[in-house]
Amino acid sequence: MFREVTMEEISDGRTYELNDMVKCDTGDCKNCHKCCTGMGSSVIIDPFDVWRLKNELKLGFEELLQKGYIELNMVDGLILPNLRMNEKNACSFLDDNGRCSIHKARPGICRIFPLGRVYDDKGFKYFVQKGQCFKEKSLVKIKVKKWIDTDGLSKNQEYVLKWHDFIRAVGEKMIKLRDSGRGEMLNDIAMYVLNEFFVKDFEIDDKNITDENNYRKGDDCDITDIYYIISNRIEVAYENILKV
Ligand code: SF4
Ligand code: SF4
Repeated sequence: MFREVTMEEISDGRTYELNDMVKCDTGDCKNCHKCCTGMGSSVIIDPFDVWRLKNELKLGFEELLQKGYIELNMVDGLILPNLRMNEKNACSFLDDNGRCSIHKARPGICRIFPLGRVYDDKGFKYFVQKGQCFKEKSLVKIKVKKWIDTDGLSKNQEYVLKWHDFIRAVGEKMIKLRDSGRGEMLNDIAMYVLNEFFVKDFEIDDKNITDENNYRKGDDCDITDIYYIISNRIEVAYENILKV
């Protein structure tokens, strides 16, 4: 899932932060849906993406799978969901007019494209992916944060980093377990991550805010709570997995 490549291979070497201007505005992708086709299993979605899809489509995780919108694949030892290509080799959310049918709820990777993220020990920045967008030569400048078009952006950025660090730490732990002859635990860890972050719904009681916000235990959460709730679940998962 994490590509170990040099910036020169995939970009012009420049990186950007939220308030920077960057040439990545595709002009509403008029007459183009190239990057919504032929992606194989490469568009891996995260817990927030899945929560957004469940809310938008009013479907549970199993229904998203059954209806063929997403599928599960092994990624670095974990079982993670990705957008599924249909029989026309297009994303199953692409409509007959070549537009995204879930535009408001499209996953994070779709939102930032043709930007990508590059991580270091201080966090992450954005870069323009070289040779990926059909309109590369006519991209127009826009502020990064406007392009990303995501509610609660500062919370979202914290969450993106936390999820990235968590997945990486779990991957490293799995390698250690395998190398020390405890490979029998790997399947349990993969199933735990799948269940905790994708199959199980996020509910208010995860967050322990019942009194202060007048929520009732078991209420569905909304976007103001979701980052906090997922972060809490990551903290618990760190303890459960990394202590193994
Ligand atoms: S290739 Fe570029 S212009 Fe075409 S759909 Fe993707 S982002 Fe839009
Ligand atoms: S979710 Fe929408 S934007 Fe993303 S690949 Fe599918 S059709 Fe394209």
